[in-house]
Amino acid sequence: MNRDFLDTPIEFAKGVGPQRAALLKAELGILTFRDLLLHIPFRYVDRSSMQQVASIAGDTVWIQLLGKIVKVQESGLGNARRLTATLEDESGQIELVWFKGLQWVKPLLQIGEKYLVFGKPGKFKSAFSIVHPELERYEEGKELKGLGFSPVYSTTEKLSARGLNSKGIHKLILNLFPSMEGQIKEFLPLYFLGRFRIPEREEAIRTVHKPNEPVALDRALKRLRFEELLLLQLSMVNRRRESTTAQQGVVFSNVGELFNRFYKEKLPFELTGAQKRVLREIRGDVKEGKHMNRLVQGDVGSGKTIVALLSALMAIDNGYQACLMAPTEILANQHFKGFQELLEGLPVTIELLTGSTKQAGRKRIHEGLKNGSLHILIGTHALIEPAVEFRNLGLAIIDEQHRFGVEQRARLWKKAPIPPHVLVMTATPIPRTLAMTLYGDLDLSIIDELPPGRKPVKTMCRTDADRLQLFGFIEQQIRSGRQIYVVYPLIETSETMDYKDLMDGYESICRRFSRPDYQVSIVHGKMHPEAKEFEMARFLRKETQIMVATTVIEVGVNVPNASVMVIESAERFGLSQLHQLRGRVGRGADLSYCILMTHSDIGKEARRRLETMVSTNDGFKIAEVDMELRGPGDILGTQQSGLPEMKVADLTRDKEIHMAARDCAEELFLADVDLSLPEHMALKMEWIRTKASRSGWSRIS
Ligand code: ADP
Ligand code: MG
Repeated sequence: MNRDFLDTPIEFAKGVGPQRAALLKAELGILTFRDLLLHIPFRYVDRSSMQQVASIAGDTVWIQLLGKIVKVQESGLGNARRLTATLEDESGQIELVWFKGLQWVKPLLQIGEKYLVFGKPGKFKSAFSIVHPELERYEEGKELKGLGFSPVYSTTEKLSARGLNSKGIHKLILNLFPSMEGQIKEFLPLYFLGRFRIPEREEAIRTVHKPNEPVALDRALKRLRFEELLLLQLSMVNRRRESTTAQQGVVFSNVGELFNRFYKEKLPFELTGAQKRVLREIRGDVKEGKHMNRLVQGDVGSGKTIVALLSALMAIDNGYQACLMAPTEILANQHFKGFQELLEGLPVTIELLTGSTKQAGRKRIHEGLKNGSLHILIGTHALIEPAVEFRNLGLAIIDEQHRFGVEQRARLWKKAPIPPHVLVMTATPIPRTLAMTLYGDLDLSIIDELPPGRKPVKTMCRTDADRLQLFGFIEQQIRSGRQIYVVYPLIETSETMDYKDLMDGYESICRRFSRPDYQVSIVHGKMHPEAKEFEMARFLRKETQIMVATTVIEVGVNVPNASVMVIESAERFGLSQLHQLRGRVGRGADLSYCILMTHSDIGKEARRRLETMVSTNDGFKIAEVDMELRGPGDILGTQQSGLPEMKVADLTRDKEIHMAARDCAEELFLADVDLSLPEHMALKMEWIRTKASRSGWSRIS
């Protein structure tokens, strides 16, 4: 048989019959020897050391105890049957409990004998116990050191019930070792092994499952993480090369009339250095027929809109149309108004298309798009409806892209025969390693400078006890001409309660502040779009002083006169949402405030989020903490995470290895365009194999 050892179906492993094979597939996705060998321990326990019963605390995960069994008891009937043994060491007693496999365990338990017990303590009725521990008779004088680092594997209830707990899985893996000898081919170019001081593949696999000492273990883990990330980055780097070289883009050869006129006559401020740099990067892409796929990351308020507008003018100057898609109607509206104002007096036509555009308006827009008389179309996801057809779309801009699904983005750039240049703008900075993975095929521009004169928003935490003081502060701010946001959480699952909180809050604010000279607005998702729009407009015109809202105002809304952001139940918001909300203030020249109202007892993670908000205004730092707290999948939102599933590597933890892998991927393609050199052949084969076995990736273009 000529099958690769690693591709051998798991059924053929010693100790795995059809039933266990089916379970391994269903529970852990383990189909082959490869899957099993790459099911690496999620942690290691130092089994050369011993703890004491009294040292068990709420956060103890794994523990190894040495003690005497002093009592064994069986109770319950049928399914409720259980076996309890009491283990005693010098420091105290703890119960060991079994619900399953009683017939095997019972004979092992001898009262008065010493045992080595290993397991996860849990709390039951205020006392700790260990359910289904590993158990071993202890012989006096036995060398504990020999146990070394013990790997711990993730498994499931069902597998454990079939004997495949962590220890059982370990045994399966060790069973493969004899036949594995000489079967695992190296596929990394050897010069990487030397450069990173990492072992060959077979040795690495052996070591992670059977470590002898920490340094070798570290290197083995590093090796396996590196290879996985390198394969990933090969795909990323390659995809970018393909989209920029193979894909012909439309050419905006001249910086024309409109662009120059706008720049000289209309631009209301001097661009920041960062804005200029990003514009140069965009210009560099579009002038030469390269297909632009660019992500502009810039913190809230860094001035991405003007960059979008200037880019749109580049398109129009060259006879092309541009569109701008925003995630909410409010935001689309605001962009539309902003563009209209800025472009006043220039021969540029703009229209707005959203879910609430009337039939007649739609017809006019559709016609204008087709005959080319309409230059810029701004709107919500209504833009991607099939009825929307452009005459010659040259640039598609997507604002706050994290709100859009991958498919929605893709549909937008299928709207032209030659794919339009794509500019994706996001105010949710994501850590670089993540950007490299998710948008590895996009070029990255960063606006890392705020317009001059901005003062950082002052952020503080307050509780209900401070509410009177808070109202006093709001009053004082309103008196000095400022406006206030008060935002309430709205979580779908607790929507009814949340709306009640919102309305209660609104009423109490109205009671306190509504007078002839103060007005309070409210905006939430259940309102009719026109009503929302009306309230937003009143706030913008400073006719109302306080805006009570749910997170509909989160994205992109711009009211420079608003200087206070009060966030109610702030502990319920995620970090990036808090950061986005805070970004609504501090847009003018005045000192602004963000007040995080919380309940007095909140969890550890919530506290960390709030402390992070208080301590920094830097979106990139906040994103890093967010990724630490929630993991990379969650910070992107399930809606569009599109992250590849990693077996061995962890995008949060393995930042440095990931960067190195990225550099190596670039280096490889630079040195060997199609990876055809002999020393790269094995890598290429492995890369092709992993590409074929992967599915459901986010494709940006
Ligand atoms: P965001 O990056 O969050 O989309 P905006 O584009 O809405 O930010 O810009 C925020 C505010 O800053 C707007 O009022 C805008 O007019 C202003 N602004 C943008 N660039 C500059 C600049 N270079 N100098 C002064 N103000 C600027
Ligand atoms: Mg914006």
